[in-house]
Amino acid sequence: MSDKFQISEEKILQCSCLVIGSGPGGLTAAKRLVDAGKDVILVEEGDFIKTSESQKYKNYQKINSLWRNGGITTSFGKTSVLYAEGNAVGGGAEINSGIMQKVSPQVLSGWVQNNNIKELTAEGLDERYDKVLKLINPTEPKPHPSSDILVDAAKKLNWKSETLKIAYDHQGNKSSVSKIILEDLLENGLRLFANLKVEKIKYKNNRAYQVECLSLNKCRVTIKFEQLFLAAGAIYSPFLLLKSGIKKSIGKTLQFHPTLKVGALFDRKINENPAVVPGSAITEFMPDIRIGGSVFTKGFFGMFLSEDWKKRRWMFDLSDYCGIYYAMIKPKGKARIFKIPFLPDPVIFIKLEKEDKDLLQEGLQKLTQAVFAAGAKFAYPSIFGHKGFASCEDVKITNFKNLNLMTIHTFSSLPMGENDFCPVDSFGRLKHLSNVMVCDASIIPSAPGTNPQATIMALVERNMDHFLT
Ligand SMILES: Cc1cc2nc3c(=O)[nH]c(=O)nc-3n(C[C@H](O)[C@H](O)[C@H](O)COP(=O)(O)OP(=O)(O)OC[C@H]3O[C@@H](n4cnc5c(N)ncnc54)[C@H](O)[C@@H]3O)c2cc1C
Repeated sequence: MSDKFQISEEKILQCSCLVIGSGPGGLTAAKRLVDAGKDVILVEEGDFIKTSESQKYKNYQKINSLWRNGGITTSFGKTSVLYAEGNAVGGGAEINSGIMQKVSPQVLSGWVQNNNIKELTAEGLDERYDKVLKLINPTEPKPHPSSDILVDAAKKLNWKSETLKIAYDHQGNKSSVSKIILEDLLENGLRLFANLKVEKIKYKNNRAYQVECLSLNKCRVTIKFEQLFLAAGAIYSPFLLLKSGIKKSIGKTLQFHPTLKVGALFDRKINENPAVVPGSAITEFMPDIRIGGSVFTKGFFGMFLSEDWKKRRWMFDLSDYCGIYYAMIKPKGKARIFKIPFLPDPVIFIKLEKEDKDLLQEGLQKLTQAVFAAGAKFAYPSIFGHKGFASCEDVKITNFKNLNLMTIHTFSSLPMGENDFCPVDSFGRLKHLSNVMVCDASIIPSAPGTNPQATIMALVERNMDHFLT
């Protein structure tokens, strides 16, 4: 990384607009501000590695340099959920599959009603989705057996399926937000500082005025600003507010898309050249349940098997014949984000509701039905101690404590709306501090049931329109 993006001495900086976090939300906000001629600083805790460089990295190098906590963090609860986040310039979009989806009109009208959101209409959001999709220009993923067999299975079962578009160009290069948005901004005056972590927001009389940061070599950096745009992601935005002493309604409504996997064995090779992104999905049961294929590498397959290595290890040598498939649910349950004294990172407690357990049961049944209809001969669900299925008869979760759920989608920890439980108003402004806008997955009113990146960017576009006018 060039030195100009790094600070290695104590410093005080000043700007008109400060953006914290460089994921899809932060970069969308930064773009609108730079385009409007504002003086903008963007601060990112993680490293700055150009997408063109990181695409050449081996998987373990990517995980070490672009993912938080080596790719896996755990939450606590009767059924815990492992989650993954990006921690680099570009945020989660630097490591994600870039599947671009819009929320359904039903989900959107539920948000407006439940949170009492002013002026959020399907037409208005569609306009912003169009803008985002034009910018990202997602394409159909290349065909691949391990993913495409789900389409055949859906046909047999008379279920609806789709090929989801992904943020890759036709040559297979990733269209990350750091490539599409950031490079242009740097030429137009944006000051970017990577490897700089914001530790605290300082405020007085209902207005934030500066942040205290720590550089990689532990130098203290102060940044003074007029307007703050908080985009540190659904977990670290509320955590930063909690660390700064802002607590009312903060971080009590975090949601995930709990995801259950199966590793399935076929009698033919389906995975000699695994797809970059398996884009085929069964969408019949959306928004409550989506079924699809997971990214498959020997490393990820090894991780799946290692959940119960003694039982499942025999499958490792047959990895060309195996695929990993998932059922992702739209939950009712919420998680809480806690700041524990002396711990540098948040602790997350999750509670699954009865409806969520019912959806997981149904999701596992449909998922095993799909993989057996696709020709699987055997499947292990991600349930510790499970002996596996040789057919889709009698599929049932008997002990939710043994479930190994995971998620790559986090949101709704600072939901938008006029209701009291919403710490952010209908246009993204933090109610506690008049000059702070939240511009990331935190503001999504509740679990969308679809991949969130396009929605984050569309909501931020909408809120920035309001801010700039
Ligand atoms: C493996 C994986 C696959 C995914 N696949 C898809 C997909 O196909 N489609 C889709 O729509 N979504 C996908 N997602 C989810 C999507 O990437 C996220 O929803 C999205 O990146 C969230 O954007 P954001 O702007 O809210 O925050 P983030 O992308 O999380 O960005 C926040 C940034 O803020 C930085 N930060 C945090 N705290 C601080 C601090 N104190 N100081 C400075 N910087 C800080 C973080 O390092 C991070 O880079 C995936 C996620 C993962 C992990």
